[in-house]
Amino acid sequence: MIVILRQNPNPDQLESFIAWLKEKGVAVHTSVGESNTILGLVGDTSRLDIDLIAALDIVQDVKRVQEPYKNANRKFHPEDTVIPVGGTQIGGGTLTIMAGPCSVESEEQVVGIAKAVKASGATMLRGGAFKPRTSPYAFQGLGERGLEYLKTARAETGLPIVTELMDVTQLPLFKDVDVIQIGARNMQNFDLLKAVGHQEKPVMIKRGMSATYEEWLMSAEYVMAGGNENVILCERGIRTFETFTRNTLDLSCIPVLRYLTHLPVVVDPSHATGKYWLVEPMALGAVAAGADGVLIEVHNDPEHALCDGPQSLKPQVFDTVAKKLLTLHGVMQSVNGGAEV
Ligand code: PEP
Ligand code: MN
Repeated sequence: MIVILRQNPNPDQLESFIAWLKEKGVAVHTSVGESNTILGLVGDTSRLDIDLIAALDIVQDVKRVQEPYKNANRKFHPEDTVIPVGGTQIGGGTLTIMAGPCSVESEEQVVGIAKAVKASGATMLRGGAFKPRTSPYAFQGLGERGLEYLKTARAETGLPIVTELMDVTQLPLFKDVDVIQIGARNMQNFDLLKAVGHQEKPVMIKRGMSATYEEWLMSAEYVMAGGNENVILCERGIRTFETFTRNTLDLSCIPVLRYLTHLPVVVDPSHATGKYWLVEPMALGAVAAGADGVLIEVHNDPEHALCDGPQSLKPQVFDTVAKKLLTLHGVMQSVNGGAEV
């Protein structure tokens, strides 16, 4: 971090500022120029409050030269994080295919979809039991009963389950799920992030609708600061001026996150586009750009789905898409010089 001081700073104020910085554990290098004095702060600056420093009388400007996240930062953890989940893994050159209905609607529905997506090559079952809906009058999910149906589907197919946690109070019910999803609307629910940071299940954080990469990575940092290193980032589209698609899929996040962080990246073309016919091209684009996985909504009867029917693939369409994704993933592995899978 670089702090540029105002001209002729009060010597007492400067002395106590430097002492305070040293107390925070950073080394301070002072360069006195003709008109300005500059402080170079070296060490772990992630705990320094940049806004507080900027507001001091003697400070003219402050710039971070290091990202405010440490655990999620690739600089301090060059190897990709690989997350083992129920006999499979996320990251490390594999292609994770999470598929399932937006909402669990009945045992028969979720077990049927789970069997179909498994046969097509899905590696995880994704379905919502607790649903964050824009309208309070819309179907809110089956709750605890939905979680039980997901577990039945797991028992019948062997697919690990990923499902959304909306509130800290629901956490005891999630002891037996495989991956906990934090939805876009909760990406900055810091109490929820702290709570999942203090337990062991892997956590998939969906990108907030208007979140920058840094804000998203700071959410991952919340979970990791609590001791849980198993975090997955899920791009699900961001809000832009475009209204034709539900959101705008930011595929450039894949190489950017690859550069900034060691955490695996999954792309959700279903919520990003809101249209079933855009799911295949965007999922293929995500795999070509190097995503570690995709999240695709699949419904046996999209016309009558209780949630997100227009973006859901029928199982037979998903079958074609999954096969193309696996083929493309193999091609990308060989193009990039890795082992073919
Ligand atoms: C979901 O995955 O079902 C969901 C509600 O997505 P998001 O949080 O990305 O809107
Ligand atoms: Mn959905």
